[in-house]
Amino acid sequence: MSDKNYGFDTLQVHAGARPDPTTGARNTPIYQTTAYVFRDADHAAALFNLQEVGYIYSRLTNPTVSVLQERIATLEGGVGAVCCSSGHAAQIMSLFPLMSPGKNIIASTRLYGGTVTQFSQTIKRFGWSATFVDFDDTEAVKAAIDDDTRAVFCESIANPGGYITDLDAISAITKAAGIPLIVDNTSATPYLCRPFEHGADLVVHSTTKYLTGNGTVMGGCVVDSGTFDWSASDKFPSLSQPETAYHGLKFHETFGPLAFTFHSIAIGLRDLGMTMNPQAAHYTLMGIETLSLRMQRHVENAVTVAKWLEADPRIDYVTYAGLESSPYFGRVEKICPRGAGGLFTFAVKGGYDACVKLIDSLEIFSHVANLGDTRSLVIHTASTTHRQLNEDQQRAAGAAPELVRVSIGIEDAADLIADLDQALAKATA
Ligand SMILES: *Cc1c(COP(=O)(O)O)cnc(C)c1O
Repeated sequence: MSDKNYGFDTLQVHAGARPDPTTGARNTPIYQTTAYVFRDADHAAALFNLQEVGYIYSRLTNPTVSVLQERIATLEGGVGAVCCSSGHAAQIMSLFPLMSPGKNIIASTRLYGGTVTQFSQTIKRFGWSATFVDFDDTEAVKAAIDDDTRAVFCESIANPGGYITDLDAISAITKAAGIPLIVDNTSATPYLCRPFEHGADLVVHSTTKYLTGNGTVMGGCVVDSGTFDWSASDKFPSLSQPETAYHGLKFHETFGPLAFTFHSIAIGLRDLGMTMNPQAAHYTLMGIETLSLRMQRHVENAVTVAKWLEADPRIDYVTYAGLESSPYFGRVEKICPRGAGGLFTFAVKGGYDACVKLIDSLEIFSHVANLGDTRSLVIHTASTTHRQLNEDQQRAAGAAPELVRVSIGIEDAADLIADLDQALAKATA
């Protein structure tokens, strides 16, 4: 495709793809191959020296995965992207070029439960650490940054409560501090929120969720805005200083705005091996073609169901930024003008026991540890996705024990409401 200024709906179908040059196949083939034949010995040497871009081995690059990378980078407005085996892999891949033992990140308290665990426990084994801060308190975010901070991390629309982060306020702080802002845009997708337009430097995705959209394959992605100056300080030597594993090549000097993307492939995927397989890329490419259509329906249904729940006497409260009662309602227009997503929590009168009974009584909603599926999903976060957290962390993350999280699907809203109605009757009887 030429580089005309196409709209989102056109790009989600076409960006990165072209008819197969040999066969004319219109859909992107699944290049199910581990290796690629070199033209000759010079060609092989040039590829291994990063002097020529091409395919060597599918741990690093694969043509099906490359199309997906270009598609997601285009939809986010970035210069490059690297796909990985899962969203959690993408988070490690986003930090890997920035971090070294003794360095820290500042992370929001309102994150996916698995991310809280990854950042508070697992990354310690690399000698990295995380400080968790309430990102609504911008002074606290500023105060938490020290000389060893190498990134600030938050979600645009935070799972599970649907809170919206004021990305403009946070990015003003990270720019002043000279460190990158990484935004997990999984719950919003680039259709609802484009973090780079609010000053983010890197975006990560669990493509497992809305981007694939149908609950079939795991995947993740790191997208680079291409705008961060890795050489402005001595904080990011992996990108600004000579790399011994490539004969002293300096990634930022050599690849400019693509430094982070090239480093992620040439070092990150090569040595960490968190590679996305071409089958997964194929399913995600199929899903992305309908992203905007699905997100419109997810949002429309979420608003309808959240309003119905809020008006129901069996419900204590509903946390959905798309409701006027939400303290985050005012941020929707600025951060995600096309809607606050399809994810929210609600508190059932009757607490924990009523929550459990409700979940067991639902018929259309599936009780699963996933979100962003065409199907409506429900889970009790405190006993599952946020189980490894203590109660203070659970409350801070928006996963209090009396809350149920729903991921509203694209079914008929009237059927979803009827299902909730009958299950609430049983749960509160
Ligand atoms: C699911 C999820 C992740 C983790 O992604 P996986 O693909 O499950 O590894 C990270 N962040 C958010 C917001 C998620 O919903």
